[in-house]
Amino acid sequence: MSRILALVLTAVLMNGCASSSPERNTIDEAAAALGGADRILSLTALQIAGSGAAPNAGQNRMPDDELPVWKVSEYTRDIDLANGRTRVRQVREAQFLFAGATVQRVAQGLDDAAYNIAADGTMSRAGDAVAKERRVELLHHPLTAVRAALDSAATLANARTEGAEQLVDLRTAGGDTVTLAVDASTHLPARVISRAGNPNMGDVAIVTTFSDYEDVDGVKLPRRLTTMMDKYLQFDLYVSSNRLGGDVAALSAPAAVKSAPVPPQPPVVVTAEPVATGIWWLAGSGNHRSVVFEFADHLVLYEVPVNEARSQAVIDKARSLSAKPLTKAIVSHHHFDHSGGLRVAVAEGLTIITHRANEAFFKDLLARAHTIVPDALQRNRRPATFEWVDDQMTLKDAAMEVQLYHLLDNPREGTNVFAYVPRERMLVQADLYDASWQQHLWGENVLANLARRKLAIDRSVPVHGVIEPFDQMVKTITATSPPVASR
Ligand SMILES: [Zn+2]
Repeated sequence: MSRILALVLTAVLMNGCASSSPERNTIDEAAAALGGADRILSLTALQIAGSGAAPNAGQNRMPDDELPVWKVSEYTRDIDLANGRTRVRQVREAQFLFAGATVQRVAQGLDDAAYNIAADGTMSRAGDAVAKERRVELLHHPLTAVRAALDSAATLANARTEGAEQLVDLRTAGGDTVTLAVDASTHLPARVISRAGNPNMGDVAIVTTFSDYEDVDGVKLPRRLTTMMDKYLQFDLYVSSNRLGGDVAALSAPAAVKSAPVPPQPPVVVTAEPVATGIWWLAGSGNHRSVVFEFADHLVLYEVPVNEARSQAVIDKARSLSAKPLTKAIVSHHHFDHSGGLRVAVAEGLTIITHRANEAFFKDLLARAHTIVPDALQRNRRPATFEWVDDQMTLKDAAMEVQLYHLLDNPREGTNVFAYVPRERMLVQADLYDASWQQHLWGENVLANLARRKLAIDRSVPVHGVIEPFDQMVKTITATSPPVASR
């Protein structure tokens, strides 16, 4: 009897304590505005269908231009609310010049583990970091966020008012953290904010804003969800249908997928193939290669691509090729997959050679904080030194001459700088051409640029693809470029 009384008293005290906190108040008001805590907690499933847009950060023509956009013509998200399972399917159509398949189908799921679904239905497990990312992403919805906040195992903290919003920090029972912002007058959830470490941008806020609420069976649900990653639009979803309930059995992943070992990160392999006296092509894993030029008393690298791991391995490999110091890195253009090694190159003391139009963008990338996932420059802050390319630049001493040229009037890449080695009649380039591309939509512009510079070229040594004779490159570009009139 006394034990039961103690439990009841404890429950009353905890409840009393909790309901008096400003955090609890904000969540309770949000739950009431959405349709009531009991109603929300009794829901089993939510199905969202719609369409929208998914821009590609770090892939614009100029660093400040509009981002290229995937039009998401079909979007469905099914959520098993009780078990935290979800599945998302998208059909995406490229609205920009793109060398690959311009229609992509993406299907992804989350159960105890994250998994991806191939076009033929095959499911493969993704890593734990992906699972965490998808759990947090799932909280970027009013219903999932408020349900998680109502969970007695969740922690609420730091209630505050900012402008017309009341904010509460939420730590879920599973340890994921987001901030929920509630409209101070309607009490409807206005935004969910999470923080993430982006390889290029460093510490970023990912913010989903909810608007255009509708009533579905007594529950308020947003018809528009707009997600920003830092200053970039990441996803803009227009919901055509919010449906509560439905069969969620299909959302559980097969046991074999959930228990599959977490796939290891593929190792970074950097090979060094000599392609001429004092020139090495650094290939290996992936499809972003670099080139090392040996000058009389130093080495210069063309391209520090992808990310810190790749570029650190490339820098280490370059240094193993010669006793001469590696002092400079040419960054072909500002796209994130080509500038992913910018910060580690600066941390390693390399002078950055790149087009002048990248100045503000690169200086910002270098200044940003990377505290969530600390990188080499975060651990070893040092000032950057730059050499800016305008129309052209020649790097020349007794041992080597490399000419750099700005790729003019390119419809996709406004800051691209390619290299030419006159002694070898060699073109070194990124994104001008890749033998494996299905189409070379800017191929004519590339050939016009090379003709304009009056370069006698025998070989293309690329960042993407394989080394090829120049006449083969011209043949492939000609065969895979659409006629001008059709563009
Ligand atoms: Zn590229």
